[in-house]
Amino acid sequence: MAHADQAALLDQGRQAIAAIVNLASICPAGGDARWDAMLAKLNVTPLPPDERARHLREGPGQAKGALLLELRWALNGVVAPLCEHMDEGWRLTHEVEQAVRDYVGAVKPRVTTASIFANALAGAASSPAAMVGAAGASADCCRCCGAPRAERGETHCHYCGESR
Ligand SMILES: [Zn+2]
Repeated sequence: MAHADQAALLDQGRQAIAAIVNLASICPAGGDARWDAMLAKLNVTPLPPDERARHLREGPGQAKGALLLELRWALNGVVAPLCEHMDEGWRLTHEVEQAVRDYVGAVKPRVTTASIFANALAGAASSPAAMVGAAGASADCCRCCGAPRAERGETHCHYCGESR
């Protein structure tokens, strides 16, 4: 394929990634109807409601935004057809990885003395992710979202989909 077409596909992919990340990050924690509509448009099956609740409760922690795993699914879904036509599809795959990492930082709850106190009162500080965070980075934590490994031998992070 001509170089110009390749550049256009890369550009199209970047724009789609930006649009999806933008929508995900303006949603309240766990997503909303707009996010569900986006997933449906991309043919991505959302997590079941109880799994969504569990990700919010036990995952790496997010103050806002659609769930990390659903974001990754949506981004993979949107770039996959473009990558098929690209000589260097890895470039878009790489941008997806980077977008998810940036998103983890963008939706992370701001840690203030008041929020630590509030979390302790609410019992949230005893969630696995919070405990591991307090104990410092463990080798067994996800490099992308910081969540501890949910099961031995898992190949992808349960919460954000990063490969181990
Ligand atoms: Zn992760």
